[in-house]
Amino acid sequence: MSTRDATMMDDVAEILLDTETISSRVRQLGADIARDYAAKDVVLVSILKGALPFLADLMRAAPIPLALDFLEVSSYGTSTETSGVVRVLKDLANPIEGRHVLIVEDIIDTGLTLNYVIEHLRAQRPASIKLCALLDKPARRIVPLQIDYRGFEIPDKFVIGYGLDYAERYRNLPFIGVLRPEVYRR
Ligand code: 5GP
Repeated sequence: MSTRDATMMDDVAEILLDTETISSRVRQLGADIARDYAAKDVVLVSILKGALPFLADLMRAAPIPLALDFLEVSSYGTSTETSGVVRVLKDLANPIEGRHVLIVEDIIDTGLTLNYVIEHLRAQRPASIKLCALLDKPARRIVPLQIDYRGFEIPDKFVIGYGLDYAERYRNLPFIGVLRPEVYRR
């Protein structure tokens, strides 16, 4: 392990979901999605950047014809909390009218970001919108959301890794871990 790895690992309080646990759950989700969308014109809409590793693994576990598109949003708030005020930084590249949209998201916390994104997509008149989220933190939910495909329910802790960042770091950790609170209080 290099010094750099050792430094990142030092900031991890505990490993919540290891690589093997994530990968077997993602394979299951991919199989469920492949079964449900086999005969449909489906677009996986992912929100940059945290969902990218999840999306990459999920789509390869769903061997059906599908398209990808991306949204980039910024939500205002502190470094570890969202405020519900969301701005679209990058919109979809292609129309979704009449198509089946499956939103692929890394984590649902308060639900404020997703609530905004769903309204934004609904205005473009897709045939359906469903939600696939790797992680669900129900303890902090403000807006009720139906998660159609859910990876794991997790406790109310700030997590990093497998795409999730703190100040743009830790996205490349191959597991999901809890960030030591000292790091964001520094
Ligand atoms: P929500 O709007 O549901 O409160 O928050 C959604 C967004 O907040 C997620 O897409 C993610 O960017 C960020 N977020 C919420 N909880 C966590 C967490 O535990 N770790 C990280 N890294 N980001 C989180």
